[in-house]
Amino acid sequence: MSDICPECGAPVPESSSCRDNFHALLLLEAEVPGGPGSLPHFYAVASYGLQHPDSMNYTADALAGLRASVADVLDGRATLAEILRRVRRAANGAVRVTRRVGDAEVRWHRGNWPMTVADVCAGGVDGYADRVASWARSIAETLDATVPRPARSPTRKT
Ligand SMILES: [Zn+2]
Repeated sequence: MSDICPECGAPVPESSSCRDNFHALLLLEAEVPGGPGSLPHFYAVASYGLQHPDSMNYTADALAGLRASVADVLDGRATLAEILRRVRRAANGAVRVTRRVGDAEVRWHRGNWPMTVADVCAGGVDGYADRVASWARSIAETLDATVPRPARSPTRKT
């Protein structure tokens, strides 16, 4: 018997949590010959985060930033190196990425996604990189259909 993750809809073994699916994903990555590669790893971690706003306890800003980063890499607007620099800069600042007790729940998509961590794990090592890219793409498309994107920070006119 299994339960269903309320956030991503993946089957979860009884009396465990979807975090176990994430750990299984990382174990699968470790089996990819030569390693998963930094881009597939980014897609995997970011995709899991985007599908688990509550258990990751992200703020609305952190989620929006992660979503924009994934979309920018998928669409070729930024390289992974640029994204990682962006993330490092944000982490060095005092920007809070997790919600405090009493913070409002973030408006987000939950519970019904075309693809989940369980689908990626079920596919095994073969085609791992393609599968996590499809996962990230499916999340970007689901979010675009269900959660309005915040306006991009306006570029300053000179
Ligand atoms: Zn889940």
